[in-house]
Amino acid sequence: MPEIVAVLAEIADQMARESERGRVASYIPQLARVDPKKFGIAVVTAEGAVHVAGDAEEPFSIQSISKVFTLTLALGRVGDTLWRRVGREPSGNAFNSIAQLERENGVPRNPFINAGAIVVTDVVLSGHPPKEALGDIVQFMRFLAGNEEIVVDKAVAQSETATGYRNVALANYMKAFGNIENPPEMTLGVYFHQCAIAMSCRDLAHAGRFLAEDGHHPATRRRVVSRERARRINALMLMCGHYDGSGDFAFKVGIPGKSGVGGGILGIVPGEASICVWSPGLNATGNSHLGSLALERLTKAMGWSVFGA
Ligand code: GLN
Repeated sequence: MPEIVAVLAEIADQMARESERGRVASYIPQLARVDPKKFGIAVVTAEGAVHVAGDAEEPFSIQSISKVFTLTLALGRVGDTLWRRVGREPSGNAFNSIAQLERENGVPRNPFINAGAIVVTDVVLSGHPPKEALGDIVQFMRFLAGNEEIVVDKAVAQSETATGYRNVALANYMKAFGNIENPPEMTLGVYFHQCAIAMSCRDLAHAGRFLAEDGHHPATRRRVVSRERARRINALMLMCGHYDGSGDFAFKVGIPGKSGVGGGILGIVPGEASICVWSPGLNATGNSHLGSLALERLTKAMGWSVFGA
């Protein structure tokens, strides 16, 4: 196996020289201000070794990567009854699609498209004031990342609250089908804030370790989820984590992954490593352009695709 330190350094160097960097998300105005030249990557191996390159220590907006962690919390609260309210199939549609929801009677295809993630957040919210639910999510991230400094970027949360009309439409639409329990504006408030949590590649790579380690989180010596649940969350990430780009991501990178429009991607190599890469420019399916390329090169060099070296 090649030396990971050298592989990461080479990838970071190649990415710095790429001129085609994708387009930074602009539908959330505050995200459009991020420098497209940023690139960071962090890998935490099963042995606990941490390797970083580029801007791996700089916090960025985790956006939809948060959906993996709220799914974990929601499954902890309601178990498999969650699947009555959200499906487990790839959507083949954009992350914020409304059309599919109408055809499928307000039950979102999977927990990672926006509609599905809003239902998941609704589950986390039920029975708690919104501040407390958000506090639980932020605490969970701090605990998993081992970093008490993790906070919500208020400017990003406000920016999305002011412009998130599509998500407002999705939440209201699902409310009409009885698939949102709380007032939609409350569920959305928590959802927008969870998306605006700021974390670095290093933080997220640490946070994802329980998915690479059969549900056990080595740094905290805690079991976060059962072995079966970790395996299932990974399966969902592989099939649905990149929206209608999930097939291409599996084809090229070959590991469970979850992207966010902030340009981050969390990648899980079961039994081997938890990885986070960040580059703000997105491709046509709303996934980090260079992040995907960097992960493709990394999994190829290390023989980490779950489909074989
Ligand atoms: N907060 C974003 C939204 O709801 C998250 C989308 C994403 O990261 N793909 O639009």
